[in-house]
Amino acid sequence: MENLSDKPQNKTISNNMEHVKCLIIGSGPAGFTAAIYAARANLSPVLYEGLQPGGQLTTTTEVENFPGYPEGVTGPAMMEDLKNQAARFGASVRFGYATQVDFSSKPHKVLIDGEKWIEADAVIIATGATAKYLGLPSEEKFKGFGVSACATCDGFFYKGKVVAVVGGGDTACEEATYLAGLCKKVYLIVRKNFLRASKAMQHRATNTANIEVLFEHATKEITGNDMGVTGVTLVNAKGEEVKLDIDGFFVAIGHQPNSDIFKPFIKMDETGYILTEAGSTKTNVPGVFACGDVQDKIYRQAITAAGTGCMAALDAEKYLATLH
Ligand code: NDP
Repeated sequence: MENLSDKPQNKTISNNMEHVKCLIIGSGPAGFTAAIYAARANLSPVLYEGLQPGGQLTTTTEVENFPGYPEGVTGPAMMEDLKNQAARFGASVRFGYATQVDFSSKPHKVLIDGEKWIEADAVIIATGATAKYLGLPSEEKFKGFGVSACATCDGFFYKGKVVAVVGGGDTACEEATYLAGLCKKVYLIVRKNFLRASKAMQHRATNTANIEVLFEHATKEITGNDMGVTGVTLVNAKGEEVKLDIDGFFVAIGHQPNSDIFKPFIKMDETGYILTEAGSTKTNVPGVFACGDVQDKIYRQAITAAGTGCMAALDAEKYLATLH
């Protein structure tokens, strides 16, 4: 059994400067899992929750695919569980948003809310990604009640029903194909007259009997009632309105990794996903690690984010051991 009183102390340097051993930025499954592991390894982690405490899962209703919850759990309840688990081992979970970083020298520096600098020996970036939405007021109204940005998370609730997916890339084709295995019918709504997805993915989507692709259709409004979504109004290339009866509306027009503030220092791909060394969470800057959706554009699941959060804490622990 570990002796928690052996924990190294973090230090307040001044009112607007503090030194910590391990700083975690972000509070989704990746950030909290990193905090649980780092706290249990006596790294006294400090975690800043960011603009959306709990991350993307707080915008979903039921989570049924996270192992360990046989009856399912709501996204917000699961994130509260993860937070409490991290706090139980002594992680300091704080409100605050990282607004700037300076990784040019050690210790690394992260500015919180534009006013307080945290110096950290190791930094774990777990800032996630944000699903892009169309920006319609009706879409906002039904978010979590028929409008979703994750078919793997929410598709199950539409078993035997009719749904629409908007988007023309790999995500949209993959989500439409996944939903086609569960739903009676899937409309794939594409704004251009072609799909941007890879040929293989296009082939799968267009050759699935219960997927109907509607090219050159824009979404005008999602309609519904107190129970949720009941339809969608589209506008076709001739400017005519087309109304569809649907039970669910899936937005699959891409994700934006929350990585802007790291750009001057951290290597990323052309779409802003942080690049990590294969099989680890190491970035190009020693002592800075990345986990969860900010470095994963393929899997994007709570469980995979949690897995890489664990990896980041273990990588940080190993790195910190080399400093002393
Ligand atoms: P993409 O950016 O590739 O595609 C976004 C799609 O959404 C495009 O068809 C775009 O249309 C459409 N879109 C964007 N904004 C709107 C809007 N306001 N209204 C209607 N349609 C809109 O995003 P993806 O998430 O599909 O893919 C991101 C990256 O991840 C890609 O590199 C992809 O290959 C990769 N990926 C790989 C997977 C795999 O290998 N299994 C699975 C999923 C993604 P338009 O074409 O008109 O711009």
